[in-house]
Amino acid sequence: MRYVKQKREQVGACTICNRICQLTYDHIPPSVAGNADSMMLISALSAISGTPQEDRPLISQNGYKIRSICRDCNSTIGREYDQVMGQLCADINKYLASPLTLPAEAAFDTTPSRLLRGLLGHILAAKLSPDKCVVDKQIREYLANHTSTLHPDLHVYYWLYPYPSIVVFRDFVMALHTGNGREFPVCSVMKFPPLGMLLTNAKQFYDLPDLSTRSYFHIDAPARIPLRFDNLKSQDWPEGARHSTFIITGQSGAQSLHGTPRKS
Ligand SMILES: [Zn+2]
Repeated sequence: MRYVKQKREQVGACTICNRICQLTYDHIPPSVAGNADSMMLISALSAISGTPQEDRPLISQNGYKIRSICRDCNSTIGREYDQVMGQLCADINKYLASPLTLPAEAAFDTTPSRLLRGLLGHILAAKLSPDKCVVDKQIREYLANHTSTLHPDLHVYYWLYPYPSIVVFRDFVMALHTGNGREFPVCSVMKFPPLGMLLTNAKQFYDLPDLSTRSYFHIDAPARIPLRFDNLKSQDWPEGARHSTFIITGQSGAQSLHGTPRKS
């Protein structure tokens, strides 16, 4: 398996605002949430299918990062949302490091509207080539101002992900077994320690909590969000080939990258 494309040009369309401009690197997750170590990047499709990659891995010296967004969008995300993401990750990591036996579930203080916007901004930035994907358009509308609510078709499920690799896999369809039979939701995954996130149009996903239900919150409204510590998902869940009968994807999936820290 080969990369379709490894890197964007220095000038191009920003994946958040669509303006043609000088592109800057977005760290995914932001460096305030860790992600400063040297990473080995391979094709996410190679990682998912277990098919060895013919190209040499890319090495990124200071974290998982993609050149995809303009300076303005980069600084807006950094200023408005990254601190909230970093604080939540730090709180969860502190909790995980506790010598006490963890209860099945805990709740963490955050500002859900900023957290959700930060996660969605980075999942937009994680796409190597901007396209006319409906989901991206709906995310852009949500990010455009602080009083928007997320389109009701979109759901953002999250779970504990205590693994060192950083995984992004954009725009794939998978088979999902539900009480009503099989469904085929459109999905995008973004995972970095300590959280995994799935953006999808599936109305439910394995009983995971859905951050999109808080998208109408005022931008600075605080709330507690639940996180389960039992029923741990494996590192390649849910996109790994062994979890679904099949996966269909296109260019964005083929260009997605899977990062492994080189020090581990
Ligand atoms: Zn931009």
